[in-house]
Amino acid sequence: MPRKPKSKTKTQAIAPSGSKDPYPQFDAPTPDQCLSVRDSLLSLHGFPKEFAEFRRIRHEPGLQSESVLDGLVITLLSQNTTDSSSRKAFERLKSAFPTWNQVLDAESDVLEDAIRCGGLARTKAGRIKSILKTLKEKKGDFCLEYLRGLSIEVVKTELSQFKGIGPKTFLQVACVLMFYLQKNDFPVDTHVFQITKGIGWIPTTASRETAYLHLNKRIPNELKFDLNCLFVTHGKLCRSCKQQDNKTIDNSSALCPLVNSTYVNRQEMHVTKDS
Ligand SMILES: [Zn+2]
Repeated sequence: MPRKPKSKTKTQAIAPSGSKDPYPQFDAPTPDQCLSVRDSLLSLHGFPKEFAEFRRIRHEPGLQSESVLDGLVITLLSQNTTDSSSRKAFERLKSAFPTWNQVLDAESDVLEDAIRCGGLARTKAGRIKSILKTLKEKKGDFCLEYLRGLSIEVVKTELSQFKGIGPKTFLQVACVLMFYLQKNDFPVDTHVFQITKGIGWIPTTASRETAYLHLNKRIPNELKFDLNCLFVTHGKLCRSCKQQDNKTIDNSSALCPLVNSTYVNRQEMHVTKDS
């Protein structure tokens, strides 16, 4: 007897307003593919522990752990480093400077020392100070909670007023939207980019930015958060998906539900890959 699909939830591709899909003719992923991949990865990994608290907050709206400003600073600190290093840097920052006023008034080298374990200390310290300065000048206090009530496109506009945050750092903006504002946005980090390219959900010629625009148009809103967390976790753990980019799949591919699966957009397999 054939097994029933795990979920019969009907999904629809819901395109957020604003940005256009750079690949309107590229018809992957379909809502069913998204659901199927979500279910396969969920069966394989369970829901990743590292994102469990964010998921709880999404499903229980009364809960709120970090402020939006904390989230933005954590996201800035996470650039080019591991989550554990950026968390440590954030904890050291908060312990050295209990208030945002103290961060703004701090000597740059003292601030850099506090966050050094997260890497790129000079750049990150400068951006944090710049955000605080702009907030104080424009809003009168250090608070970004007002963003919670705004649409995704308006939040993007608001965040891009800060120096160091803008179109080039769309990944950070998307992370703030998804993790700290509980919006249905789909950030494209290295893992997400590699996997979605490997399974044919984006054209082989796509850049991270065009992938972000395309995937946000194609993936149903209600699947974005789970799929994103699962892709990130799967990307860290799965050797097959890492190798898939080089087309040298080894024995471990037997364990990966994404390799050689029906999720791959077959027509895309014939397109020559960019180097
Ligand atoms: Zn894999």
